Amino acid sequence: MSHIPTSHPRYVSLMTRETLSRALKQGLVHETGLIAHGRGEAFDYLLGETTIPEANEAAKVAAAALLSATNPVISINGNVAALAAKECIVLADRIPAKLEVNLFHRTQARVNRIAVLLRKHGASTVYGVNPTAKIPGLAHDRALCDRRGIFSADVALVPLEDGDRCEALRAMGKSVIAIDLNPLSRTAKAASITIVDNVTRAIPRIDYWVQELSDAKKSDLSNLVRSWDNKKNLGMVLAFLSKRLNSLS
Ligand code: ATP
Repeated sequence: MSHIPTSHPRYVSLMTRETLSRALKQGLVHETGLIAHGRGEAFDYLLGETTIPEANEAAKVAAAALLSATNPVISINGNVAALAAKECIVLADRIPAKLEVNLFHRTQARVNRIAVLLRKHGASTVYGVNPTAKIPGLAHDRALCDRRGIFSADVALVPLEDGDRCEALRAMGKSVIAIDLNPLSRTAKAASITIVDNVTRAIPRIDYWVQELSDAKKSDLSNLVRSWDNKKNLGMVLAFLSKRLNSLS
């Protein structure tokens, strides 16, 4: 790994790039994952590389939805595995939820490598390695999933999802939680709950709320989820960005 001094003002961001670059060489991340990261990074810069109050609120409601679910599933792609594998495993154990490898550019070799990484970090069962179902309405291998996992999930947490698949999951009647730094993406708009934050901060934030809400009454959890207005929250994120940019200009 290149030597980046901790005193560098862009230390965290540069280290994240290093992590992804290494994960690309290890065959965990697809090359387009680096480009997707670049788009996310640009939005993170605009947000101030911090969890804004709107994202914290969305993470709280996401935790309530996951705790209320019958079959919650966390979807793992290459970038998520590279940036937040351990955190996803901790969260999955705590809820509890299933972990499923779900790739846009799917190859069996990359699925296997990600599954090995998850197991190495302590995941006992990894779904999606041998797909047994298809998400209706999606062409090609993007549709492949596990019947016991994403296919039958009532709540799916899909960090860094693509818009088509998010829409297809919603069309199946699922509650979809997206983590996406771009509040304007199709994923952000199609999801039931969108957390506009970096996956590296959002997963631990959801985990924090899962712990905080673990003793909450079922009715309180479902009230939190029922009263959530995702469109309104996305509007507030855009207002935050616009105000921040104005203050910087
Ligand atoms: P959509 O199909 O939803 O319109 P897209 O085509 O813009 O999305 P993709 O390339 O499918 O986007 O996925 C990348 C998305 O993931 C981008 O919207 C980007 O903002 C987001 N993203 C990238 N890295 C991160 C990260 N570390 N944390 C959160 N979001 C991220």
